[in-house]
Amino acid sequence: PVRVRFAPSPTGNLHVGGARTALFNYLFTRSKGGKFVLRIEDTDLERSTRESEEAMLKDLSWLGLDWDEGPGVGGDYGPYRQSERNSLYKQHAENLHQSGHVYRCFCSNEELEKMKEDAKLKQLPPVYTGKWASATNEEVEEELAKGTPYTYRFRVPKGSLKINDLIRGKVSWNLDTLGDFVIMRSNGQPVYNFCVTVDDATMAISHVIRAEEHLPNTLRQALIYKALGFPMPYFAHVSLILAPDRSKLSKRHGATSVGQFREMGYLPDAMVNYLALLGWGDGTENEFFTLDQLVEKFTIERVNKSGAIFDSTKLRWMNGQHLRARPSEELTKLIGEYWKTSGLITVSAGPFIDEAVQLLKDGIDLINDADKALANLLSYPLHSTLQSDEAEPVLQDNLSEFAASLLAAYDSGDVVAALEEGHAGWQKWVKGFGKSLKRKGKSLFMPLRLLLTGKLHGPDMGASVVLLYKAGTSDVVASEAG
Ligand code: GLU
Repeated sequence: PVRVRFAPSPTGNLHVGGARTALFNYLFTRSKGGKFVLRIEDTDLERSTRESEEAMLKDLSWLGLDWDEGPGVGGDYGPYRQSERNSLYKQHAENLHQSGHVYRCFCSNEELEKMKEDAKLKQLPPVYTGKWASATNEEVEEELAKGTPYTYRFRVPKGSLKINDLIRGKVSWNLDTLGDFVIMRSNGQPVYNFCVTVDDATMAISHVIRAEEHLPNTLRQALIYKALGFPMPYFAHVSLILAPDRSKLSKRHGATSVGQFREMGYLPDAMVNYLALLGWGDGTENEFFTLDQLVEKFTIERVNKSGAIFDSTKLRWMNGQHLRARPSEELTKLIGEYWKTSGLITVSAGPFIDEAVQLLKDGIDLINDADKALANLLSYPLHSTLQSDEAEPVLQDNLSEFAASLLAAYDSGDVVAALEEGHAGWQKWVKGFGKSLKRKGKSLFMPLRLLLTGKLHGPDMGASVVLLYKAGTSDVVASEAG
């Protein structure tokens, strides 16, 4: 059976890289009817915190990546925190000692330092060359009797090791430069690679899907796997997420944690969709996927082995796609609530809100844009002092005569009468107004838009002014906003 795991270290926030790793694990296992295990790697007691763990779980849940086993849900392979699995690590370290894959090393730090320096001088790899790999029982007993502290050191075999990575293909290592490594410190603390291997083995993980930066760990973990006598899992190393300048994505490139995006108003379905496209595609032009569609389409073979660029502009665009894909009533409710909460309007539902959402939604990619869009509409001036290259030709087009006519129409009550009849009334008035000035098409609409809205571009003008009129004659719009 397929069993995958996501194994975050709770030392900070869930960032986009970790979220993508979790997502690929999730998609893979859900597409195969397998299990998704969540394991907390909190062996670094100084840097790990419960707050961080909780925040990560919250972010995963928000993304919709629910786990079958792990904190909060339990399971048959627990406990799911490394800090609660110490006795298991000890037991397996003893087993490896019994089977001879591990030996006691009594070297002092000074001796180890000297080995390193000697190797450096001779330009050799810094491998362990101490005597304890081949010490006699008597020598060992003697040190034990003296109470000399010792580590457990893993006996690395000669030759090479190959794995068939599901994303990167064949990966092989020369073992001669690795050197026997420590799996348990003299204070009894197991080292990271050992814990991970014991966990993956005893949790019956079938596929290890994780970031490329763990590839060097895979070498040690695969050796420990073999020594423990557990069947080796499949490995898949996902490439890095890069910034647009192709450097490794980091805080200096802006928001990188899932929580930050949530606070900025991003939708979880847009995040998930965008993260999936960082290194994966279904082979068509299509880029819009819901989580269910991703589960249906995802295959590990289609995951790219080159780095993926994180493009926040595209993520924003993607959010707009998902926002507008929501059913119309839901979108209206979402945006209406937002306007109400921010104090722009007094009620969150009604025909005005419906119309305003329909009119403005194409300019709203992020829910947080909604305020600006409405405030902008509500603040359209009748007169404008706009000056720009683009406005210049319109402004020079006898605009004063035009403006005078428009003002006269306002003053006579013609405009208001037309607006009272809604969109049709407005259209009729515009036509007549155009006729009286002998203008139509662009030469009519551009100056009109400019005078009415202060801008050359924007949402449909007729709908905007009708809506504005309604805003002015109802108590929907909060007074300080208008
Ligand atoms: N705890 C590791 C990390 O957060 C993941 C280790 C793994 O997936 O094997 O980077």
